[in-house]
Amino acid sequence: MTTTSKPNAAFDAVASRRRCVQYRRRILGVSQKTPLHVAPAFSCLEMIDAVYFGLKQPEDTFILSKGHGAAAQYAVLEAAGVLSKEDVDGMCQNGSHLGAHPDLGIPGIEASTGSLGHGLPVAIGMALADRDHGLQRTIYLVISDGELHEGSVWESILLAPSKGLNNLVVFVDLNDMQTMGFTSESHPNFHPVRDKVEAFGWEVAEVDGHDAAAVVDAVKKRKGAAPLLVLGKTVKGKGVSYMENVAIWHYRSPSPEEYQQALRELGEVA
Ligand SMILES: [Mg+2]
Repeated sequence: MTTTSKPNAAFDAVASRRRCVQYRRRILGVSQKTPLHVAPAFSCLEMIDAVYFGLKQPEDTFILSKGHGAAAQYAVLEAAGVLSKEDVDGMCQNGSHLGAHPDLGIPGIEASTGSLGHGLPVAIGMALADRDHGLQRTIYLVISDGELHEGSVWESILLAPSKGLNNLVVFVDLNDMQTMGFTSESHPNFHPVRDKVEAFGWEVAEVDGHDAAAVVDAVKKRKGAAPLLVLGKTVKGKGVSYMENVAIWHYRSPSPEEYQQALRELGEVA
């Protein structure tokens, strides 16, 4: 299991915002060497940062169920001191052990993901095993809103409260997009998500998914009598104007000119 750099410290929102600029610049830099899922990584960075720097204790587990956002997790794991600069520099390139999706065997990766809809069932299996073995930990996940269309996710949403698995915390990267377009257009009855999940017995919170401090707060204020699902409102491609809410950036790297524009828009790490 991975550790955070300061698991018990108060969450520093200013430092988090600084890290999130650095993550985006870092991912864009690597994208100049190899194609990456840049925009899906940019929408979930603050939530992953909140987990590693504000919530996760050493015994806890994090699963990036939307595995195509792996670049985001790798960047955060580098900041947390789990992955090296060389690891992240080489991701998704020949000879690297960091692929386009998280794999067991990579330091800090606690579940192999990429086939959408698997992360929550895996987490439920872990939580049931913990119960059998008298272990206690919180299992954090980030899933995508496109992933919420998978039947296996809804089976899991039904099952977790039924089994009393209150140690699950699921963050939904609610950017209203999936690979080819808008979720609200492909599935008009998808919203409101909150009502549906609450009807299955979950505690639900809604936050700005790009406000890491709010994400941390939402979890710390939970009642704890049910598993928690946090709807994090996000923007796919967050921080780069030409990527935001544009489907083609699901899997695409910027040209050299676009790269320079993105750096200007993100600004330096203050
Ligand atoms: Mg999405």
